[in-house]
Amino acid sequence: DLLVVSEGDRIAADAVLRESSALRVDESVLTGESFAVDKDDEHPWIFAGTLAVRGQALAQVVATGTHTEVGRIGRSLADIERPASPMVEQTRRLVRLFSTLGLALSVAVVLLYGGLRGDWLQASLAGITLAMSLLPEEFALILAVFMAMGAWRLSRHQVLTRHSQALEAIGSTTVLCTDKTGTLTHNRMQVVALARWSGQAFEAWRAAPTEDRQSSSEIPDNAVPLARQALLASDPTPQDPMEVALVTLARSTGSLEDLRAWQPVHTYGWSPHCMAVTRLWRMGSASPEESLWVATKGAPEAVAQLCRLSNSEREALRVQTNAFAQEGWRVLAVAQGRAPHAAWPDSPEALELTLMGLVALADPLRNGVKASVQECHQAGIRVVMLTGDHPLTAQAIGQEAGLDTTAPVVTGEALANLDDRALQQVVQSTSLYARIMPQQKLRIVQALRAQGHVVAMTGDGVNDAPSLQAAHIGIAMGQRGTDVAREAASLVLLNDDFSAIVRAARLGRQLQDNLRKALVFVLAVHVPIAGLALLPVVLGWPLILLPVHIACLELLIDPVCSMAYEAEPPEPDLMQRPPRDPHAPLFPWPWVVWSLAQGGVVLAGVSVLGVWTMQWGASVSTSRTLIFCTLLVANAALIAANRSYSQSAWRSWGQPNAVLWRMGAALIVFGIAVVAWPPLRQVFELEWPAPEIRAVAVMGCLTCVAGVGAVLGLMRHWRPELRKTTHNAAHAASTP
Ligand code: ADP
Ligand code: MG
Repeated sequence: DLLVVSEGDRIAADAVLRESSALRVDESVLTGESFAVDKDDEHPWIFAGTLAVRGQALAQVVATGTHTEVGRIGRSLADIERPASPMVEQTRRLVRLFSTLGLALSVAVVLLYGGLRGDWLQASLAGITLAMSLLPEEFALILAVFMAMGAWRLSRHQVLTRHSQALEAIGSTTVLCTDKTGTLTHNRMQVVALARWSGQAFEAWRAAPTEDRQSSSEIPDNAVPLARQALLASDPTPQDPMEVALVTLARSTGSLEDLRAWQPVHTYGWSPHCMAVTRLWRMGSASPEESLWVATKGAPEAVAQLCRLSNSEREALRVQTNAFAQEGWRVLAVAQGRAPHAAWPDSPEALELTLMGLVALADPLRNGVKASVQECHQAGIRVVMLTGDHPLTAQAIGQEAGLDTTAPVVTGEALANLDDRALQQVVQSTSLYARIMPQQKLRIVQALRAQGHVVAMTGDGVNDAPSLQAAHIGIAMGQRGTDVAREAASLVLLNDDFSAIVRAARLGRQLQDNLRKALVFVLAVHVPIAGLALLPVVLGWPLILLPVHIACLELLIDPVCSMAYEAEPPEPDLMQRPPRDPHAPLFPWPWVVWSLAQGGVVLAGVSVLGVWTMQWGASVSTSRTLIFCTLLVANAALIAANRSYSQSAWRSWGQPNAVLWRMGAALIVFGIAVVAWPPLRQVFELEWPAPEIRAVAVMGCLTCVAGVGAVLGLMRHWRPELRKTTHNAAHAASTP
């Protein structure tokens, strides 16, 4: 098969070039590199998923699907298991428990009723009614709707949710691992200092930082060659903000006219093992036989290696690098050399290079990062920074951002010497990692997970994909990120901003709270309904609630009412309490008791009402009308009762929740319609109540509301206890 490739195509398969003219391919999907690479007879391989940014070619396909380079990465991703969300697991378990309970009870009722009274039709009806009243079909519905709505809410904070469970999970996060460049900082770089290497010593200047990054920053004349060399080591049309800054600096010095005619010949790309970029140029006026100009820039250690510096030279370089890095600047070393015109070596290590000097770039912290970090710390979430930058740069930026800098910075090199056990000790206290390779992020995630942490991890490159997937919550960058990283992540930050992660955590916690409130409510309303289905069987009454009532309450009114909690505003202490332990029961026993108590009060109220009307000699439909209407009102009372557990029900009335008000109004309209509108009344087998019955109805309703209020009052002392039960213990060992 042949591929016809032209500018703008995403390449469909791994292929080898047959014919090509000036083809240039963006392989960032595979390599994480932001610059495009030239393809020619020397480099005839093109890869699936990469993007042709220039030129044309005809290429023969050699691999497709999972056999391609991207496919291989995709396969290694498939091997990593995505941890299942504990909340989904627990909901499933709850549903299973209640279903079994409900079905068993229903069967018992059918046998009991049929056996005692011999009326098997009525017995089956009673059994079905009870089964309907007990089956917890709302749970799954509530979970699905709350998560979908949560994703929608999160999207308004510029965060896309790829897996619905991520939002709930991020509410339980105990450690948040973040990139430095572009997430904590703006990734808008500016050259702020230079140091020229004379062969023995450095001579350093500060380039006056200017507000307007396009205008010139003043640098002395003997720093101009250094600036020119930094430009030559960058892409002629740079995308990377760091290279943009270098090019801007060189342009501001003027005197670039002679470089116009220079031609780029070859590039040695950046790699985690040699953090430097080297470019070869054919000089403008030079004859084709003349040697090539070599320009290198990169991490000082990497360039020192390439220049084969002596120990004393390395020491001088280290001192000057530290002086710059301490300021929170990114430090690049620049070197020059010559290479034979035809046969340049395969790796830059074989080149002859001499050090020219250092360039320092500042990358300001994003607005709001400090406040967001502080919010995290208050919420018991440790923020950990992972960067490829110099340890001192990491330290300075970490300090500025308000990270915990008490433990020393751990470098990738040190990390490589630790075994898994030792690493687990180190990750408990370390908040700053520098010169980290993407592969090492995976080890850090795994060590944190082994310590019981819930880990959120950000990333952008292809190499970050495994760690994004291994973390509980993988967060990819929408702007800088590669497709592969985005596909591995469960959240995508549209504006790459750290603060958005913290907003997501806040929403996640709100979701957990509201989900629980909804579950307490749903369980509570099941009590009177189930009780009313069971009581007639036990006490020998006629059936009060018919299947139509149960269906209406269970399938329509209760699920719809529970949605009111989705829009419930956050508790005031949302970000002041430690993260919830995701493995703690979703619905611990005190909560179940609390919920059953509320429902029990309502059941007691309607039972008294039932007994009373029966003795009084009212017809079945009269007492049914009374009881059904009372249930509707009690429903509203229960919603109100569970809106907040840190404030009283009365106080929480003041909280805005438009959905809730609409729900309440709809309940009242429905209650009136069901007794006042004949067709509906007939379906529900109710009757239009006589005046004295209406008075009783009002009293019954008030009794229920007062009863729920009284339980609430009693429970208030208890509520702090209720909330304490479920905090994650892992965070306590490591929170500053
Ligand atoms: P970060 O984690 O902050 O994004 P990177 O992993 O991208 O850091 O980069 C690590 C180091 O590699 C940088 O501190 C710098 O010294 C060097 N480096 C990064 N990009 C380039 C580049 N385009 N050219 C030369 N050196 C680079
Ligand atoms: Mg980077």
